[in-house]
Amino acid sequence: MSADRAPLRQALARGEEEGGSIEFKTRLTRDTHLVDGRLESLAAQLRHRVLSGDGEATYVIGVDDDGAIAGISPDTFSESMDVLSLLAEEADAHIDDVETWGIEEQHSSGSRMQSDGIVGIATLQDGPMLETDDEHVVVGTAGHVDHGKSTLVGTLVTGDRDDGQGGTRSFLDVQPHEVERGLSADLSYAVYGFDEEGPVRMDNPDRKTDRAGIVQEADRLVSFVDTVGHEPWLHTTIRGLVGQKLDYGLLVVAADDGPTETTREHLGILLATELPTLVAITKTDMVPDGRVEEVEDEVEAMLREVGETPLPVDRHGIGAAIEEIGTTVPILRTSAVSGEGIDQLDTLFEALPKRESDANAPFRMYVDRSYSVTGVGAVASGTINAGTVEAGDELLLGPMPDGNFREVQVRSIEMHYHRVDKATAGRIVGIALKGVDEAEIERGMALVPRNSEPNPVREFEAEVVVLNHPTRIGEGYEPVVHLETVGEAAVFSPEKGRLLPGDTGRTTVRFKFRPYLVEEGQRFVFREGRSKGVGTVRSLDTS
Ligand code: GDP
Ligand code: MG
Repeated sequence: MSADRAPLRQALARGEEEGGSIEFKTRLTRDTHLVDGRLESLAAQLRHRVLSGDGEATYVIGVDDDGAIAGISPDTFSESMDVLSLLAEEADAHIDDVETWGIEEQHSSGSRMQSDGIVGIATLQDGPMLETDDEHVVVGTAGHVDHGKSTLVGTLVTGDRDDGQGGTRSFLDVQPHEVERGLSADLSYAVYGFDEEGPVRMDNPDRKTDRAGIVQEADRLVSFVDTVGHEPWLHTTIRGLVGQKLDYGLLVVAADDGPTETTREHLGILLATELPTLVAITKTDMVPDGRVEEVEDEVEAMLREVGETPLPVDRHGIGAAIEEIGTTVPILRTSAVSGEGIDQLDTLFEALPKRESDANAPFRMYVDRSYSVTGVGAVASGTINAGTVEAGDELLLGPMPDGNFREVQVRSIEMHYHRVDKATAGRIVGIALKGVDEAEIERGMALVPRNSEPNPVREFEAEVVVLNHPTRIGEGYEPVVHLETVGEAAVFSPEKGRLLPGDTGRTTVRFKFRPYLVEEGQRFVFREGRSKGVGTVRSLDTS
């Protein structure tokens, strides 16, 4: 949920106007709003609102016609979004953005309490939704807080220089609220593109229509997904990264501070998710040249520590970086104030290919969230790891706590509030399932084809790198292991009895409570208190 209530206050203050672009609805339900006649007239109203708003309309849900906040349950809100998406489709528009707020109740004692009700705003835009396709590269940003992620991205997408006071980033500092609902189809907070003449940037990133313009104009899109650099957010960061199909990782390191513990951790996570990664040393305008070199040396050392080959672009050129990213980690020197390195980043992002997705492999999706939709039933959402799924497909879901898989069937597939007939690897989808109750679906379960023979395990052999640990990791060390969407306590038994910080070594990893579907080659992150590390599944045979 969003903390900043200003957009809600603004929408409520403007109010519903005849011929305006704002619409208030208490709720939208399948039973009353999708029946013949009603659907068409609501779609016509929506079309009208979109056109009056020059291609953008605002639907405030959870308020009465006169703007009094009613508040509705999260389930009702979710159903309202489902209905709204169908209306939008009918009106040749799409939901671009959804933001929700809790409502406060004033009690007789005068104290304010948070109730369960929510109110939300859906922003609708003309035309079909922004899809990630072959020409749409998604970059995940990471790095220590205040090291300049938002500013660097702001400068790339607008072309504007920063004032060193946070001027460029302001519009980017919003929470990816859709994560809440689990469908989280569009977590990108900034996008720019390229056409024959070079970069196509936004004039005013606050205007959604600018973004839509870029999507239309550019032949190639690059969008940025924030992975939040705050220590308390690490859990979210891991899920954000592991749960989302990203093409590249961009790690920022400020030239004044140099790499920190958080930087190392984020690097480990980016690499654990097998993301081809580049490092941008930011704020080079703030320090003397000697310091930039020093930080570059530290970054190189940090990369070597985790077995990566650094490629300083200053020495090897941007061409080498384009060729070798993935097998090496390019390091660029940048400043959002002086503009150093911005051209090089443009060149890089214009040239980098989309990572191949495995559309022809057998279907596999790890469940990130589950929820239940009135009239539809249990929905499992996540990013499709491999293959293709179609409505009607017969699948297996599991393992259940007892290790067995459940036979289920795909009722329908939803992608970013739109119903689709099929979806392929890389997409974030909600899959409505027949044959299972929502309460039985858990994060970390997998969906695989009915004819496959999934072999869930309690235990596997892994090769791990300890990124940080106060002492040493020994027999019985109990971290939480994050693998795909699994986040589960596990017990380590290192082959040599112990592992020290910086060590690479073999260990048996045993899930404490239940089996999961694990495959050789999968990467994972583990963490317990201040200790963290990354690992690769090497063998499922631990006998
Ligand atoms: P984030 O937390 O990593 O997203 O960092 P921000 O982008 O919010 O940047 C933190 C602060 O550093 C802001 O005040 C920015 O203006 C400043 N900053 C970011 N990049 C640069 C840069 O290249 N040069 C200078 N001088 N300041 C910068
Ligand atoms: Mg930021």
